[in-house]
Amino acid sequence: MRHALTPDKRIISIDTYKTMPHPPQPLTCPGIGPDGAHCTAQAGPRAIGSPYVRPHFWARGHIDGCDEGAAATTGRRRARRDGSTTTRTRHTGPELVIIDPDPTNSPMDPRTSTRPSPAARRTMTTATPANRRSRRTTSRTMRLTALLKRAINNQVDPRAILVLPDGTKGRASRILRPLNTITAADSGLHTCLHGRITGYQEYIATRSVFLHIQPTPGTSPRQTAAIMIRADQASAVQDNLDTSIGSLEGHHAIAIGTVRLARTGSLYIELDNTSSLAHLPSRGPVNR
Ligand SMILES: [Zn+2]
Repeated sequence: MRHALTPDKRIISIDTYKTMPHPPQPLTCPGIGPDGAHCTAQAGPRAIGSPYVRPHFWARGHIDGCDEGAAATTGRRRARRDGSTTTRTRHTGPELVIIDPDPTNSPMDPRTSTRPSPAARRTMTTATPANRRSRRTTSRTMRLTALLKRAINNQVDPRAILVLPDGTKGRASRILRPLNTITAADSGLHTCLHGRITGYQEYIATRSVFLHIQPTPGTSPRQTAAIMIRADQASAVQDNLDTSIGSLEGHHAIAIGTVRLARTGSLYIELDNTSSLAHLPSRGPVNR
């Protein structure tokens, strides 16, 4: 969060807070729920002295759907809250191309079964040029956040072909994966991965920040691949995300990069570049 609420109900920005010799206490979340109710979660400053993570306010126990919590968006209401008259530009990541397979033969279509229905058989045997035209694949470009939205809602056909910004091309089943399904066998894979962020950790020794991802049930967080942001990428990444790395907890994230296996045995994603990470708000609590 960029802002917090003081005991006398003033909105204070993290930048102002940093400069105050005696900052007001205690602070609460300035957020509002979907029904207009004020969030009263206790808030505090975080990452004030961090070399990589931008200082931000952090709160625990947001009310359901609080617009400063995991469901936070860069919507109009938040724009007004920080005093700006226009909504900030929303960075939606680089463009990708998705080529959907034959829509008449989709495995997500409930009409499709392993045995073709009599109607389908009839279509196949009596296919006309018009039918063939309607079976053509559709190719479209979309932003990284739009792809994330489709991935979260299971709206990507695993047989669709995805073309990453650098030209890497492959089936969605191979190059669009949940981050928590990555194993050591995937080391070196250049791919697009998505997952829900549970928090971050800074490593001063290696000059990097790791975004941790919600593991699959029964898997330990240590065995789950993380997204690495190098110190030299951190500032531009946070500009592109329009938020501090520390404010991503609970959000869905998508990254384009290469799977790496550290000497310690942990897995991480090396980002292609500073625009290869995008995020979307999410609903519900995070399970670590
Ligand atoms: Zn809140």
